[in-house]
Amino acid sequence: MTADIIPHTSINAHQPCWQEELAAAIRDPASLLKLLEIKPSHLDGINAAQQAWTIRVPLPYVRRMGKGDIDDPLLKQVLPLGSEMLSVPGFSSDPLGEGDANPIPGVVHKYHGRALLIISPACAVHCRYCFRRHFPYEDNTLGKKQWQAALDYLANDESISEVIYSGGDPLAANNNFLLWMTEKIAAIPHIKRLRIHTRLPLVIPSRIDSGCLHWLTATRLKVVMVWHINHPNEIDNSVKQAALNLKRHGIELLNQSVLLKQVNDTTQTLATLSEQLFEAGILPYYIHRLDKVAGAAHFHVSDEKIQQLQEELLELLPGYLVPRFVCEQAAAGAKLALTFPNKGQLLNPI
Ligand SMILES: *Cc1c(COP(=O)(O)O)cnc(C)c1O
Ligand code: SF4
Repeated sequence: MTADIIPHTSINAHQPCWQEELAAAIRDPASLLKLLEIKPSHLDGINAAQQAWTIRVPLPYVRRMGKGDIDDPLLKQVLPLGSEMLSVPGFSSDPLGEGDANPIPGVVHKYHGRALLIISPACAVHCRYCFRRHFPYEDNTLGKKQWQAALDYLANDESISEVIYSGGDPLAANNNFLLWMTEKIAAIPHIKRLRIHTRLPLVIPSRIDSGCLHWLTATRLKVVMVWHINHPNEIDNSVKQAALNLKRHGIELLNQSVLLKQVNDTTQTLATLSEQLFEAGILPYYIHRLDKVAGAAHFHVSDEKIQQLQEELLELLPGYLVPRFVCEQAAAGAKLALTFPNKGQLLNPI
């Protein structure tokens, strides 16, 4: 499936570690299009978008893109577009109101029983549709002393049974820090589960190294990793091996996707994605309606289309391979299910 279009520098070179892969990520649109043999005329008008939020994409992910194809579904997720700068009514910079659910730096506590930690402000890949693209990360970059305040917050609220490592991408933090943090969290008796929301092992599968497996398995906490895979072309053999390795170590694997126009908004694409996730030991969990974040309006899929996709998937796949269709609302206490009890009508109209 993978067209290995970018040769490694030398045949006998050592396998790059994940930090090297991260450092070598593409950071300018012209280099990306050159690697993919796409005409630079496609760069017209994207300067402002690139300046507002830079491109970042690691090479293992680029190698899964098709050569010469400006419509490649992986490329579409990462290439800045001039149209991102258009102001579209209804699309804002903090559509989830996370600014209001930030009790102390580093913690987002919006739902009962689950608290989310902004472990790392950085991401290995910049997804153009990301709802956090305007999030004030700088205020959430903490030192170990400030992390103690976050840990005290978790320890003082016995209703919290699950901690979610998020970001940015939590696996952009190094294994020593993650080991330290996980030990601190496991020392809080009422916390039972650790969840990791990450895209890093997808774009850089070598992130699942021995140090990572160590802190994931050395803990008493039950560990769930939620991948973020949107399209079947994102799953190559290296991704599958990384996932199966985690699975062998007893980590539960789930996936969440975002529904994106002209990336994954067909029944066949979503069905193939579910099948391939399962082959890699990952169960589909959520498929999110796009959050209305400024700059992402071109990815919007209509509710009618979402309903059609949901109905067709339910007919095509076993129930356990159909992700739950959800959306988020700033003030809601949970993700809202997009259910369609009467054809043409949303239970939770937005
Ligand atoms: C999505 C999310 C969670 C987890 O929700 P689940 O329905 O348990 O997957 C927790 N906190 C925040 C702020 C979230 O956005
Ligand atoms: S937080 Fe997730 S979706 Fe957003 S840019 Fe980072 S990896 Fe992509």
